[in-house]
Amino acid sequence: MNNFIKSSILKSKIRKEYVNIKGKDFHFFIPVKKIRINESIIPDEIKTKSPIKTPEYYIYDTAGPYESMGELSDFQIGIPKIREEWMKLREQVQIIQKENKTIRKAKHGERVTQRYYAKKGIITPEMEYVAYRESIEITQNKIWIEWLWKEKSEEIIEKAVISPEWICKQVAEGKIIIPANINHPELEPMGIGQGLRTKINANIGNSAIRSGIKEEVEKMIWAVMCGADTVMDLSTGEEIESIREAIIRNSPVPIGTVPIYEVLEKAEGNPENISWELYRDILIQQAEQGVDYFTIHAGLLEEHLPLVEKRLAGIVSRGGAIIAQWMKEHKQQNFTYTHWDEICEILSTYDVAVSIGDGLRPGCIYDANDEAQFAELKIQSELARRADKFDVQVMHEGPGHIPMNKILDNIEIQKDLCNSAPFYTLGPVVTDIATGYDHISSAIGATLIGSAGTAMLCYVTPKEHIGLPDREDVREGVITYKISAHASDIAKGLPSAFLRDCLMALARVKFSWEDQFALALDPEKSLKMFMESNPCIKENGENKINQNYCTMCGPKFCAMKLSKTNE
Ligand code: SF4
Repeated sequence: MNNFIKSSILKSKIRKEYVNIKGKDFHFFIPVKKIRINESIIPDEIKTKSPIKTPEYYIYDTAGPYESMGELSDFQIGIPKIREEWMKLREQVQIIQKENKTIRKAKHGERVTQRYYAKKGIITPEMEYVAYRESIEITQNKIWIEWLWKEKSEEIIEKAVISPEWICKQVAEGKIIIPANINHPELEPMGIGQGLRTKINANIGNSAIRSGIKEEVEKMIWAVMCGADTVMDLSTGEEIESIREAIIRNSPVPIGTVPIYEVLEKAEGNPENISWELYRDILIQQAEQGVDYFTIHAGLLEEHLPLVEKRLAGIVSRGGAIIAQWMKEHKQQNFTYTHWDEICEILSTYDVAVSIGDGLRPGCIYDANDEAQFAELKIQSELARRADKFDVQVMHEGPGHIPMNKILDNIEIQKDLCNSAPFYTLGPVVTDIATGYDHISSAIGATLIGSAGTAMLCYVTPKEHIGLPDREDVREGVITYKISAHASDIAKGLPSAFLRDCLMALARVKFSWEDQFALALDPEKSLKMFMESNPCIKENGENKINQNYCTMCGPKFCAMKLSKTNE
């Protein structure tokens, strides 16, 4: 496997580290990327304040223990289990042995969800971890904040630092979720919801005709190294169980699945053969493996099917289409709806969060915001209220294909119906004709809906609608969505997001190319492009790039250079 960061300049600029924070009962090691800022761009005020040590700039990091793709020597072993110690504090958890595997589950009659503890006012290590992690770009970058906001900096820091108590309150109210199955001890916990950074999800998974275990684990690592906050394993082909096991054991981020896919595999591809008992057994098996959240299309009901007849594209969600087919063949109500309480019991036994699926999301611009879509959303809201009684953590999935002028209605209606529970949208794609560029078409919609408060954006790759994404497509999709999420965070007023852009501006004005690459969302690509378009420059890690123009305008017409000369 190739190293993710090959360039010697980037290796010397960006370092993976863990910041040690003393919590209530444990020391927490919060992952960060640390950028060594060049002396030349550091403002004089900072130099005076920190004369000995060159200040570094800290970035939120999702890459877990991975620094380069070369580190995956044996995916059977897995990564360190950082939550194992934390879980020993929970009296409600029991450990059982099943087929040579150690499984954690709630003791009979007990609950173990983050929401259960939050409602009781108990701050779990996961809540503490999320609070420290969300605040890391503020607590570690104080010197930069003081420089940028001067006398207002104290107020900004005070408002932006998130406390474990606040996280606990939001989890109790269902406004933030921490997907963290007790059987996924390798997880570095993260939160999804209001007041937090906008998160992104990357989908991976094989299909019946492509890919295998090693490729899918590699894609997961690739996705988290590019910045994915969660990964959904949407495998539908052979070896589903072993692919998922390998992904979970090696994943520092929450893993989501759509269990109906495996159920359909077990039912030999025929929805008619699916039964509640088969579905229930798959839920338990995946929960015991450590899946952190399930997408369940329980809001799609029999009575919604006639509404779909009016559509151009019908049902485009795979899970939705399977459930619809089952209802038609059995002439019965959706079994995930009728068995919802039993599903919630299972979820609360292992602390699997639920992402209530949008099986009726519009699959083309013509179908956007139609009756079928909102009829399902109403049921999603009813299901969330029922899940609350079981202390299950809930988020709601959203569309789909929506034109720009109809996007904001979606989040307003969702907030209203679903009590501001986290919204998790696929894009939305804003035009149907961007085939090959749907990552861009959907990122436009994602940025708009993200700025308005959507908690997590599900990425779309350039291969959407045409094929299974490979590793490069995953990278393209993740980085595109990092742009949407970051732009949303600036619009939401997160000071940490704004600060990074200000540092980039400083690096541009000072022609500090290495800083520009290191601060970019895709350092490798921006450096590679610079090198390709400036062939006379050699990068060897020792020599600095000190050119004060680029080939875009050339030395005589470089506006940045000219305006400096005029100063
Ligand atoms: S040459 Fe043009 S694009 Fe390049 S740094 Fe100067 S102003 Fe910017």
